[in-house]
Amino acid sequence: MKLNVKNIRYVMPEDWRVLTAAEQGSRNHELVPTPLIVQLSGLRSGNAVHKSISNLAKIGLIAKVKNAKYDGYRLTYGGLDYLALHTHTKASTIYSVGNQIGVGKESDIFVCANETGMQQVLKIHRLGRISFRTVKANRDYLRNRSSASWMYMSRLAAMKEFEFMTALRQAGFPVPEPIGQNRHTVVMSLVDAFPLRQIATIQDPSELYSELLSLIVRLAEVGLIHGDFNEFNILIEEKPEADGKVALIPTIIDFPQMVSISHANAEYYFDRDVDCIKRYFDRRYGFTSDEPGPFFKESTKNIRKRLDVEVEASGFSKKMAKELEAYMKEHGIDGDAGGVEREGQDEDEDPRSEQDEPLDVEPELESDPSPEETLDEEAAIDPTATPAQ
Ligand code: ADP
Ligand code: MG
Repeated sequence: MKLNVKNIRYVMPEDWRVLTAAEQGSRNHELVPTPLIVQLSGLRSGNAVHKSISNLAKIGLIAKVKNAKYDGYRLTYGGLDYLALHTHTKASTIYSVGNQIGVGKESDIFVCANETGMQQVLKIHRLGRISFRTVKANRDYLRNRSSASWMYMSRLAAMKEFEFMTALRQAGFPVPEPIGQNRHTVVMSLVDAFPLRQIATIQDPSELYSELLSLIVRLAEVGLIHGDFNEFNILIEEKPEADGKVALIPTIIDFPQMVSISHANAEYYFDRDVDCIKRYFDRRYGFTSDEPGPFFKESTKNIRKRLDVEVEASGFSKKMAKELEAYMKEHGIDGDAGGVEREGQDEDEDPRSEQDEPLDVEPELESDPSPEETLDEEAAIDPTATPAQ
């Protein structure tokens, strides 16, 4: 999925209102009726709305649905991307967007910068982009809400990622610094490191191996299991030391699949994380340890904190966690443990040096608050607003 930020400068203040109206309308309508967009936009001139609609459709932020029963538009992923970027820009978390550095099944990763030029990472969650249409399984928790579900679920994934990153960072774990979250996006610090997957040789694998396993144990001691602890989600910074050795410093990323140690399958996920590291070190570096474990039961004997419980209280509720888990399960989203090679992650290519694209977003009219600010945020993300029971 391309993120073409070039057109953002052509989005005028009234276009933002109309786009926001389309987003609001898509909570309850897969295809948002044009009169509803007009009404929700709060603009007095119907002509202005129609002009905006045609602008937005031209740059692909909304799309007309062919052969529909009534005249209407649906919000596209591009439209949602622009809304999120617009909010990040207003909040000064993002000033420009640069190159894509990662393409996952469920996300796109870009380098971005803030106003001071500091480089950061923008992660755009895209749940359901691949598997959605092929899924026929029972989805009673979301019946007939297919349009809102990709948006809502991607937003849940972003919220979850942000909340866990925040809690882990506060507890002293090596994770990126969380900077902002909006809709289906997360902004975090850029870790100047590459995935373990790209480290071909290691002088002393035992050291890093022990460190990674002890991270799994430390996570369990604060109530958490990563759930996707693999060579793609561990970034390794190589730091030369005075004695000629190279210190390998890990940073853990990618948290939408984290589970609590109270999860019914906690032990399974814990063992899977451990096995993932064991298998990888064996296959890649020819290293196997004589020591058994670590084991889930032992690791959860010394609970220091319950970050799983803290996160629940922070906004990413148990109910949201369940919905996201059910959706991921249904869509066969099971992390990148399968080891799919990613685009844009070549070892000798560092795309971070190229020129970024300034967003140049139109300033908001002062006397005229944007409808986004007046949006009821809770309602906007609450799928229980109209679900079929
Ligand atoms: P996905 O859910 O698609 O697997 P990840 O969060 O694992 O997304 O990110 C995919 C890739 O993007 C990573 O393997 C890594 O190469 C890069 N990446 C993600 N976050 C960062 C970051 N904060 N700093 C540097 N690189 C990152
Ligand atoms: Mg990943």
